[in-house]
Amino acid sequence: MSSDPARDGFATRAIHAGQEPDPATGAVVPPIYQVSTYKQDGIGGLRGGYEYSRSANPTRTALEECLAALEGGGRGFAFASGLAGQDTVVRSLMRPGDHAVVPSDAYGGTYRYFNQVAKVQGIDHTIASLSDVDAVRAAIRPGVTKLVWVETPTNPLLGIADIRALAEVAHAAGALLVVDNTFATSYLQQPLALGADIVTHSTTKYAGGHSDVVSGAVVTARSISVMGMEDAEERIMFHQNAIGGIAGPFDAWLVLRGLKTLAVRMEQHCTNAETVVEQLVGHPAVEKVFYPGLPDHPGHDVAARQMRRFGGMVSILVRGGEHAAVEVCGATRLWTLGESLGGVESLIEHPARMTHASVAGTPLEVPRNLVRLSVGIEDVNDLVDDLDAALSARSAPPAPPAPSAPSAPSAPSALTARG
Ligand code: PLP
Repeated sequence: MSSDPARDGFATRAIHAGQEPDPATGAVVPPIYQVSTYKQDGIGGLRGGYEYSRSANPTRTALEECLAALEGGGRGFAFASGLAGQDTVVRSLMRPGDHAVVPSDAYGGTYRYFNQVAKVQGIDHTIASLSDVDAVRAAIRPGVTKLVWVETPTNPLLGIADIRALAEVAHAAGALLVVDNTFATSYLQQPLALGADIVTHSTTKYAGGHSDVVSGAVVTARSISVMGMEDAEERIMFHQNAIGGIAGPFDAWLVLRGLKTLAVRMEQHCTNAETVVEQLVGHPAVEKVFYPGLPDHPGHDVAARQMRRFGGMVSILVRGGEHAAVEVCGATRLWTLGESLGGVESLIEHPARMTHASVAGTPLEVPRNLVRLSVGIEDVNDLVDDLDAALSARSAPPAPPAPSAPSAPSAPSALTARG
């Protein structure tokens, strides 16, 4: 038995790619090779190419092969977190003096990385709205821009970028297009087939799917034709080992197990999200709903073209300002107040104070009355009832403080804010 990525459908690849029965025992699930080193049959006599688990480990290899098969890529790499993978991509492909285009709406940690980590190492960036192809073209510095970093849908405002159009713009300027496919997943969206060169994931989210692992992935295209970047795969392979931000065997195994059910989970996430959106649109406590499946979403047509369905993430602006939004987050029974997303359980959070606290005061600052929902796969009627009760319980905003009132505790600084 072996999986044929060229022939097999997505769900088949998710269950079989990279996961041949164990040669030693026939175990149908790849074992957790919880090991750091491997016996050599004489110096350099490696069995299966394994010598030290930072360089390669059989459980991680199984995951990396599966990731590549699911994205239709040349090679997959598994990391200790999404950000560790992103860091390895940037360090592999950029040098001091190079420049990147970064989304004006993105995961706060991605912006923090470019603004507070890459920048001090001499890698500059320009922020652009990626739903505006002309804005991206204008932000590119020909010869200096090496990467256009794309997130679509974006976290947390569910903006949509046209991957095919942006790939053309990036390639015309000699830059690579990197797509963070965390929100859509490889089930809903295939960036490499649309012209992207590299895909990244926080596999902490939908890929793992059970909120029990922090991990990341990078997948490179089968061939990269941007001049000077053709060896991107080898560079990433070198840096994965040289930096060492790898996924450990148990974490790799958890993600591999999660991937087996990605297709069915994503279908249910999408179905439940559509029902939740129906409830939220026109709800008296809701000012605006962000969901690319809504026909009046500015990116709806592009999303319909490049995504299988519209995903399980929904954001809303709550009427009554920040106070009301915070109240809603604290008033649910089933929706768990917490960071992260993409697990089987529904999560609710306040981006301005939680996942996106690190971008306060920057161009990526998010509305104070924004609430982000990661719609899980529970019975959707329970989710709708619980959300409705929380929205209805929201009270009127408090009166503004008197001039002499002590000021509220200050927001965390860009350095202390976590998430
Ligand atoms: N990309 C997106 C879209 C995310 O939402 C996150 C985390 O929330 C990351 C990357 C970073 O992933 P990790 O937390 O696994 O490092």
